Amino acid sequence: MLKVLKNRLEQGNRTSKYPKVPINLYNRYRGLPQINPDCDSATIKACATACPQEAIDASSCKIDLGKCVFCGQCETQSKGEFVKFTQNFEMGVANKNDLLTGGSLPALAEHSKKHFKKLFGRSLQLRQISAAGCNACEADTNVLNTPFFDLSRFGIQFVASPRHADGIHVTGPISRNMHAATITTFEAVPSPKVVIASGSCAISGGPFYGSDDIIGDLNSIIPVDLYIPGCPPHPITTLHALLKYFK
Ligand code: SF4
Ligand code: SF4
Repeated sequence: MLKVLKNRLEQGNRTSKYPKVPINLYNRYRGLPQINPDCDSATIKACATACPQEAIDASSCKIDLGKCVFCGQCETQSKGEFVKFTQNFEMGVANKNDLLTGGSLPALAEHSKKHFKKLFGRSLQLRQISAAGCNACEADTNVLNTPFFDLSRFGIQFVASPRHADGIHVTGPISRNMHAATITTFEAVPSPKVVIASGSCAISGGPFYGSDDIIGDLNSIIPVDLYIPGCPPHPITTLHALLKYFK
């Protein structure tokens, strides 16, 4: 016991002070891309061809962050001339169309639904649905429960039963096998409820894009309220989106 107390005193409080204090991410982190529309068209086309996700629209010079897996191929291909990834982790959006971006996103707070803030601003319980995928999205969501992020200090928790939840947080490309279970879980959540599509898979199919075995677009089966892009979304991207949308 004394050892525990000694450690506690020595280590102090490790919980991040975000959002009161800005957070610095590892320099290799890829956040919101900066896009140069004046880049020469051959380079833009080469980037679009190299993109494994067909996420680049060469004609409008836009990237679909719902499809993008942040592999960095376009930045390497263009030597940063067309695309450069920034450290901006604020990428949650309320409208799917906003994910097709020329390098900026609307402020999420302005798009959040006021009645959700009123209903869930103080307490938000989410049921996680892991609808196939590689498990990295779930792992990075779990990180939010560690002492550093300490999600519960904001009144947000993940709960075991959809009956106790205010909404669902879906990861993975929704395999055909998970279709019915996703709908059943959504229906078990009492109304009013929210739906969050987290990660490239739940938004567009991610690396599984084009497979006949997936639905690949949560919004095509359930209306989505909040999109959190990434592959996986960084925990701070998820935290930022939840705080801006609900608090
Ligand atoms: S970072 Fe995104 S847009 Fe660029 S090549 Fe990879 S998937 Fe495509
Ligand atoms: S979005 Fe990426 S990290 Fe998340 S489940 Fe799909 S493949 Fe895995």
